[in-house]
Amino acid sequence: MTLGTSGAAQEFDALIIGAGFSGLYQLLSLRDKLGLKVRVLEAAEGIGGTWYWNRYPGARCDSESHSYSYYFSKELLQEWHWTERYPEQPEILRYLNHVADRFDLRRDIELNTRVRSARYDDATNRWTVSTETHDTFRCTYLITAVGCLSSANVPKIDGLNDFEGDWYHTGQWPHQGVDFTGKRVGVVGTGSTGIQAIPVIAAQAKQLTVFQRTANYSIPARNAPLTDEFKRYAKAHANDIELIMKSNTNAHPFYIKDRSVFDVTDHEREQILESAWQKGGLAFRAEFRDTLLDAKANHLVADFIRRKIRAIVKDPVTAELLADIDHPFAAKRPPVDSHYFETYNLPHVQLVNIRTQPIERITPSGIKTTEKDYALDIIVFATGFDAMTGSLLKMDIEGDRGLKLSEAWQAGPRNYLGLQVPGFPNMFTVTGPGSPSVLCNMPPAIEHHVDWITDCIAHLRQHGVRRIEAEEQAADDWVLAVNAAASATLLPSATHSWYLGANVPGKPRVFMPYAGGFANYRKIVEERTRAGYQGFSLRR
Ligand code: NAP
Repeated sequence: MTLGTSGAAQEFDALIIGAGFSGLYQLLSLRDKLGLKVRVLEAAEGIGGTWYWNRYPGARCDSESHSYSYYFSKELLQEWHWTERYPEQPEILRYLNHVADRFDLRRDIELNTRVRSARYDDATNRWTVSTETHDTFRCTYLITAVGCLSSANVPKIDGLNDFEGDWYHTGQWPHQGVDFTGKRVGVVGTGSTGIQAIPVIAAQAKQLTVFQRTANYSIPARNAPLTDEFKRYAKAHANDIELIMKSNTNAHPFYIKDRSVFDVTDHEREQILESAWQKGGLAFRAEFRDTLLDAKANHLVADFIRRKIRAIVKDPVTAELLADIDHPFAAKRPPVDSHYFETYNLPHVQLVNIRTQPIERITPSGIKTTEKDYALDIIVFATGFDAMTGSLLKMDIEGDRGLKLSEAWQAGPRNYLGLQVPGFPNMFTVTGPGSPSVLCNMPPAIEHHVDWITDCIAHLRQHGVRRIEAEEQAADDWVLAVNAAASATLLPSATHSWYLGANVPGKPRVFMPYAGGFANYRKIVEERTRAGYQGFSLRR
């Protein structure tokens, strides 16, 4: 549906870019709570954001389904029934479509509409947004809800265009699916995505070659259908679960235990870790408070996982390659898996170490490393994303006095509280860089930001404030705070992580998410808001 009449700008109070978890709730909040005239612009043919695009085999959320939900509507919580411990991509997409229908959101969402540029004009205090479909929109408030992991990172490897087979990036997966039956498949990348996809692809392919640059830890997910008892428990305790998510470090429905790795004997530690390994999932990293704070503590936990890998993988050379992990556990986002390491015991699966034999080029018939040619019919790039800033910088965003976002962020994403950027008045970034976002279970992080932005806009309108903008000094101080929070942990020691932008050649190396914890972050935001939007300049 095209709502635009070509040439004439359409006028709104607020424009939201993106119709994923963030954009849907932001639309509902601004339209139904504040009564604003709002439009969502979405590049895809359907709603869902991340979950619209990431349809690769095995795509599933690592957050447990009862926590990977909106909590703003108790009715919605009670009426939606997740089926498995971790929700699979099609189920999440069904959920988001249900939300769109239930709250009558579709009439204000324009699909197939990719934003090309956004410009702020001080004289009118309006943003003008242009799309690739040649529509023009104007608004007072511009809200980017573009997701943190939405700009696919396809490595620039010579020869890709000459490849005679098919290749895919996991984040842009064809909707009709890919049939791997009888095919020789190569997977490049062993992050959360590759680790989810590899066992599923292996179950179909004739031959699977995994090209590993950095070995990775992974914890068994132990996915299973949810029992009726658990479903009843989650619904009956929704308020308690919400409280736990809002008051802890990672917005998951569990607390990090308040004990040190060194508070227990070796035997006890082994039992604790074994039990956590059997339970599976991201809670494994929450057994000790110092796992991500103290290198020696981390080493003991990491050693447990390495021993598990060696015990699972039968071929000792492959096991060693998989266990030779160069960074502390959880310093990169820790994947959870379903039979990832076990997959390497299958006779048709091989692992190639592209640290010692780097990929030289892609040939018409496969991948050529410095040592060997690997003949392939299909290449799957599970190579991640230009995270957190990629999707924002792809749009040509120009703030006050012609300041481009790409210039403002030349040295990294300078921002205040992950919510606003100096020089970009009335623009808000849902789960932007500088917020805990990707270090969290995303829905609570999103709900927090959307509620804050909604309350903020309500405040501006009630008090006749024309524009709000992050102050320069506040942004500089916040960037220091984000760096300090990361430096207090082992996170920066994974020097090749996407948290640092290190996976994209040429991207500034800046630790992007706020690592001081979700509860702490909420407290900071609340205190500054209560203190009269401290760090923001409000102009009438
Ligand atoms: P990722 O964590 O960035 O992993 C990308 C993988 O590709 C890494 O192994 C990386 O190696 C490799 N790689 C990148 N460029 C390469 C190149 N030029 N040549 C060879 N190898 C290359 O990406 P991801 O696995 O898509 O995950 C991204 C994030 O998405 C996750 O951390 C998580 O937050 C989210 N995610 C969540 C779920 C879930 O909840 N279920 C699932 C998937 C993803 P290096 O490590 O050496 O760079």
